[in-house]
Amino acid sequence: MVFRWNPKWSRRKFIYEGMEIETCVDLITGLILCPICTDIDNVCPEGKGDTQVVPEKAAYFFTVQDLIEHIKAHATSSWERKRVPIAIEEGGEESEEE
Ligand SMILES: [Zn+2]
Repeated sequence: MVFRWNPKWSRRKFIYEGMEIETCVDLITGLILCPICTDIDNVCPEGKGDTQVVPEKAAYFFTVQDLIEHIKAHATSSWERKRVPIAIEEGGEESEEE
C-alpha cells in the first residue's frame, strides 16, 4: 500500500466548555490530534515551526467536539489502556522488539 501524507502540524490551544486543550493541528487536513494518545511534544514542539511528523499511534479528529468526547472517554474508563490505533495494522500484533 502506497500512502503518503505530509502533515503540517501546528500547536494550537482550544477552549471548549471550560476545558483548555493544547494539541497539534494539521494545517493541511485540519485534523486535530489527541494529546493523550500521542506525545504532542514530538509532533508539534512548542516554539518550533511547523513539523511533518506522522505519529505511529494517534487518534485524529475533525472537530474539537469529537476530540473532547474522546478525551472524556480517556478520563472515564479503563479504555485508556487499550487505545485504539487509527492506522490499520498489517501483520498482526504490535511489537517493538528489535
Ligand atoms: Zn486519546
